[in-house]
Amino acid sequence: MKPLDHLGPSLWAGTANEPPDTVPLEGERRADVVIVGAGFTGLSCAIHLAEAGVDVVVLEAKGIGHGGSGRNMGQVNPGVWADPKVVEGLLGEATGRRFNEAFGGTYELVEGLVKRFDIRCDLMRTGNIYVGRSSKGVRAVEARHAQLSAYGFDVELLDEERTAAIVGNRRYRAAMLDKRAGNIHPLNYALGLAEGAISLGATIHTSSRVRRLAQTADGWRAETDRGAVTAERAVIATDAYSDDLWPGLKRSMVPIGTYATATVPLSDNLRKTILPQRTSTFEAAPISTYLHMVASNRIMISILGYPPLFKNSPFDRWPRLQLRRHFPQVGDIPFEFKWGGTIGLSDDHLPRLHEPAPGLTICCGFSGRGITSATLGGKIVAERIRGTMADEDCPLPVKPIRPIPLRLLRAASYELGIRAFRVLAWLP
Ligand SMILES: Cc1cc2nc3c(=O)[nH]c(=O)nc-3n(C[C@H](O)[C@H](O)[C@H](O)COP(=O)(O)OP(=O)(O)OC[C@H]3O[C@@H](n4cnc5c(N)ncnc54)[C@H](O)[C@@H]3O)c2cc1C
Repeated sequence: MKPLDHLGPSLWAGTANEPPDTVPLEGERRADVVIVGAGFTGLSCAIHLAEAGVDVVVLEAKGIGHGGSGRNMGQVNPGVWADPKVVEGLLGEATGRRFNEAFGGTYELVEGLVKRFDIRCDLMRTGNIYVGRSSKGVRAVEARHAQLSAYGFDVELLDEERTAAIVGNRRYRAAMLDKRAGNIHPLNYALGLAEGAISLGATIHTSSRVRRLAQTADGWRAETDRGAVTAERAVIATDAYSDDLWPGLKRSMVPIGTYATATVPLSDNLRKTILPQRTSTFEAAPISTYLHMVASNRIMISILGYPPLFKNSPFDRWPRLQLRRHFPQVGDIPFEFKWGGTIGLSDDHLPRLHEPAPGLTICCGFSGRGITSATLGGKIVAERIRGTMADEDCPLPVKPIRPIPLRLLRAASYELGIRAFRVLAWLP
């Protein structure tokens, strides 16, 4: 298997940098901390531990960025889905404020790591826009703008003219430009974080699924098929790709599919008529459509829901419909990449911090907003392990793991709803 085959035919795998050389774990070894999962959370945690001289081993079931980190849509959006006041309602005012401030200002964390390790991942601070078409959509845009600006975040309400100039069409009546945001090649970001962690002394073993994690007299023992790591502390950073390693963890998130497509590269002239400033858009609608002009000049279109099962079904032709509606000037340009992934929705759609046993920390539940949040999540875990973040300073409350009742039924009803929405989208 080539190093990135585990990701399937995604745009990111097709345009990735060379991954660092890694091998499966063989035999027994000791470390200070063992981390399960090599996505943004595990890799950011490894960096923030290794820079303090902590001996870290990361064990990854497949390859670096195999989960959401290597498959996502590349929208670097600070904050979470919920508006800041909703977060304060869920976490209480003081923790909610700490959460909003920490998670709302995370672009700089990502940018800092990209600069520090000189990661070639096309990070661009383009902003992103939240657009509204119906009266309800316009109200949603205005309400979100009111909430974020009241918090002092750098957001701006745009009129129809400016929206049209940024999107490249006149479909929307209102938009909010979030200037804190940008775009990235997420897999290259993950590969670069891995290089960074290795350069600081961390070890990463790929093709090393942890089959068993247990506390022993010597510390936490993480066993793979061909070896084991024993460490004082253990971290689980497996988000939506969690298996049955830790009881109840997988069941604490609802798995939701996400489907992305990317065209072949556009000519420069055509490209300048579509999302000319490369500002990604997503729509205030029951099921949002995401439009993105990636650095390689391809239009990327994505939506919630797993990739279509059958060729030429309405689901399969749905990206073509979006292209025709938004950017008819591209004609029948071919789609070169189609891929999918799973996001893990927590019950309130906020990231989760669990400490279910002494010496074990879990950070997950990024609910589809993880480029910034999981990078911060990993840093928070590292700081707690290093003892540099007290409970009262932690932006994430430590909570017990709570399996979500009927989660697969919920997942199935989301998927059905999403598919119904995609069929309805064909109506004029
Ligand atoms: C299709 C898609 C689109 C998205 N779009 C965006 C976006 O535009 N912007 C944004 O901010 N976020 C987006 N997200 C969310 C974001 O990608 C995730 O929240 C983030 O990547 C989570 O990072 P992580 O490191 O916690 O988990 P992951 O990246 O999922 O990594 C978990 C890793 O754990 C490994 N693993 C699991 N079990 C074991 C085991 N037993 N032993 C060893 N390893 C194990 C997996 O193989 C995997 O590599 C999207 C997600 C998807 C799937």
